Amino acid sequence: MTSSLQMELTAAIRNIPDYPKPGIMFRDITTLLGNPRAFRRAIDELVHPYAGTKIDKIAGVEARGFIMGGAMAHQMSSGFVPIRKKGKLPHDTVRIAYSLEYGVDEMEMHRDAITPGEKVILVDDLIATGGTAEGAVKLLTQMGADIVAACFIIDLPDLGGRKKLEALGVNVHTLIE
Ligand code: AMP
Repeated sequence: MTSSLQMELTAAIRNIPDYPKPGIMFRDITTLLGNPRAFRRAIDELVHPYAGTKIDKIAGVEARGFIMGGAMAHQMSSGFVPIRKKGKLPHDTVRIAYSLEYGVDEMEMHRDAITPGEKVILVDDLIATGGTAEGAVKLLTQMGADIVAACFIIDLPDLGGRKKLEALGVNVHTLIE
C-alpha cells in the first residue's frame, strides 16, 4: 500500500477530541464513508490481499464493521455474518464476554452462521486494545471458522490490539496507524 493512499485515508478520517469521554481521541470514519473515492479505495485495499482466495464469509463487528463488511462481502462474492451486541439477534445464538477499556460486555452471533471449516475474514473499523476483536475471534473459532485474517482500517498500535490477535495466531491486516 502506498504512502499517498495512507495519507488520503488518514485525511478522510475526522478526529474528535474527548469523545465519548475526556482523554479519548475518537477516530470518526463517517467522513471516510461519505467520501466516495476514499471509501472505495479503503475497501479495495482491504480485499486486495485475498484476491484469488475463496473466502466463504466476512464477519463484521457491530456497527461500523457492518458497513465495511457488507462492501467487502459484495466485492469478494462472500457471505456476511453480523457479530452483534447481546440481545439483538432473533435466532439461536452463541455468546461471549469480552473486555472493554473499562469493564466487560457481551457479543453474539447466530449459532448456524458459520459451517465448521469455512474461511472467514473478520472486519471492524479500528483496533485499539483488541478486546473486541479478541472476543469475535474466540466466538468464530468456537464455531469452527478458519480465520484467514482480521482487517481494520485503523490500528492504534500503542494499545496493543494487533499483538493480542497475533498471539492468538491471527493474521492482522490494517491500512493506517
Ligand atoms: P478495542 O476493543 O479496545 O480494540 O476497541 C475497538 C472497538 O472500539 C472498535 O469497535 C472501535 O470502533 C471502537 N473504538 C475504540 N477506540 C476508538 C477510537 N479511539 N476511535 C473510534 N473508535 C474506537
